[in-house]
Amino acid sequence: MFHKILIANRGEIAVRIIRACRDLHIKSVAIYARADRDCLHVKMADESYEISDDPLKGYLDADLIIETALHAQVDAIHPGYGFLSENATFAKKVEEAGITWIGPDALTIAKMGDKNAAREIMQKNGIPIVPGTKPLNEYSTREIAKFAQKIGYPIILKASSGGGGRGIRVVEKEEDLLESFNACKREAMAFFKNDDVFMEKYVLNPRHIEFQILADNYGNVIHLLERDCSIQRRHQKLIEIAPSPLISDDLRRRMGATAVAAAKAAGYTNAGTVEFLLDDNNNFYFMEMNTRIQVEHGVTEEITGYDLIGRQIRIAQGEILDLTQHDIHAQGFAIEARINAEDVANDFVPNPGKITTYYPALGPFVRVDSCIYKDYVIPPFYDSMVAKLIVRASSYNLAVNKLARALSEFTIKGVKTTIPFLINICNDKDFRRGHFDTSYIESKLEQLMPTPQSKPEDDIVSVIVAALSARYGA
Ligand code: ADP
Ligand code: ADP
Ligand code: MG
Repeated sequence: MFHKILIANRGEIAVRIIRACRDLHIKSVAIYARADRDCLHVKMADESYEISDDPLKGYLDADLIIETALHAQVDAIHPGYGFLSENATFAKKVEEAGITWIGPDALTIAKMGDKNAAREIMQKNGIPIVPGTKPLNEYSTREIAKFAQKIGYPIILKASSGGGGRGIRVVEKEEDLLESFNACKREAMAFFKNDDVFMEKYVLNPRHIEFQILADNYGNVIHLLERDCSIQRRHQKLIEIAPSPLISDDLRRRMGATAVAAAKAAGYTNAGTVEFLLDDNNNFYFMEMNTRIQVEHGVTEEITGYDLIGRQIRIAQGEILDLTQHDIHAQGFAIEARINAEDVANDFVPNPGKITTYYPALGPFVRVDSCIYKDYVIPPFYDSMVAKLIVRASSYNLAVNKLARALSEFTIKGVKTTIPFLINICNDKDFRRGHFDTSYIESKLEQLMPTPQSKPEDDIVSVIVAALSARYGA
């Protein structure tokens, strides 16, 4: 049994992991950069250590984190998502220090973290992959152009070790190929310190469908249904839905079985996600496997009733999975909206700053995973996502209604957020019908743009406060 876990992360996911630890009666240890000293995870953990005065370096310094973990005498490290969560060297060093890594082993992380190596493994095991190439860095411009002609335009260029929607370029025609290839290589080097870039056929009008996997250390592997993450902006997810409102039970069964086969082919343990692209004709292709907890894990928790972070910890502790595929059923539909502190009208640029009013949405089947509070100052150094709003209802339509209601109650002042944009998505006919693919946001951007509010004080908090003042003379 674990007694104490160090969380090598920050923000909402660190808070989420602290809660899971507390639910399991395990002590939690937070680490933080000085810029984060007021962040909720620092206040909530049983112990907190400032490990750096640089906003980012501390969260990326494997040796320093392990040193802190040894000092705090923890049994295990949970990496969350982003930062070092998919860093095989870190996972290896953690294990070598005699600390349990909450995730798959370092070798599996390395294999799946390289999109090319992963594609090769899947292909060998009969899992369908998108037609494509190996890394192209050694090839001449002419040879690269030939590959593209053979695959047929449009094609998509991807960084082998890419993630978070970065290092991706869609190319429509040959004239743009070389420039896009070089730009993709540069971005890959800047973000992932590896400029291997490969090419795939660009699947037209695809839906992004991913399956949540749980696998214990003894070969038991199940999936916990799918999430539809087609609502994306620049390859980054904005809204996630579980289960997908449009796929049939038969397709779900086939894709689920393939996801489990993919996890088995990878020798996978712990929680992970197999991402697929689904085309117009219901053909699906393996895209990548994420070897960590995903931002959008909450929607799966809400429909299945299983605590995925709790399960990650218990699997790492050596427990046998006491669930079989037959135990997994969806209770209605859950939708997550990512609330980012961004200026939507200004090309979604991050909008950090002080929160002057904070009133999260409440009510039945509404969940908020967040790390902000009134008077908190959002630092400018990190991801702009500040809250995840998750709702559940018996049908997809009712879930959309509930999301719209909860978003309109959710009040954050002091910084601009994506809330008005998300409300417009909820009110869009095609979104309500489940008619969307990954091009949805781009094709409707203008229509979804919020108009400047005429009476900004007309929000729910102001109305409540005004009503109370009138009644009690406060
Ligand atoms: P996906 O990467 O499939 O979109 P998530 O949305 O769960 O999955 O990504 C988790 C977060 O981690 C995102 O906020 C993203 O910015 C970050 N992230 C993911 N992969 C990487 C990576 N390889 N390097 C840096 N950050 C990453
Ligand atoms: P990341 O590691 O950054 O999450 P992915 O390989 O998962 O990268 O791709 C991110 C997104 O890019 C997908 O969710 C999808 O919208 C789009 N995409 C990726 N590959 C293709 C493809 N072959 N055809 C069409 N869209 C794609
Ligand atoms: Mg992905």
